[in-house]
Amino acid sequence: MKSDILVCSAWRDAHDRPVYTLRDACPECGAATENSAPAPFDPEDRWGEYRRRAKRRAAKSEADADADG
Ligand SMILES: [Zn+2]
Repeated sequence: MKSDILVCSAWRDAHDRPVYTLRDACPECGAATENSAPAPFDPEDRWGEYRRRAKRRAAKSEADADADG
């Protein structure tokens, strides 16, 4: 059976912890609910890491060019 557990979309503001429900509105605060399965990672963050690494490498190669002399 497919699980359709939802979580209060406003729980971070409205509750101390996630409020899970099968309804499309939070039973405690009435906010809309959203799929409780979180995205495992932000795909944009992966490219952010790429950018940070490339930037660091560029900075490092400058330093290396200085030190290799
Ligand atoms: Zn709520």
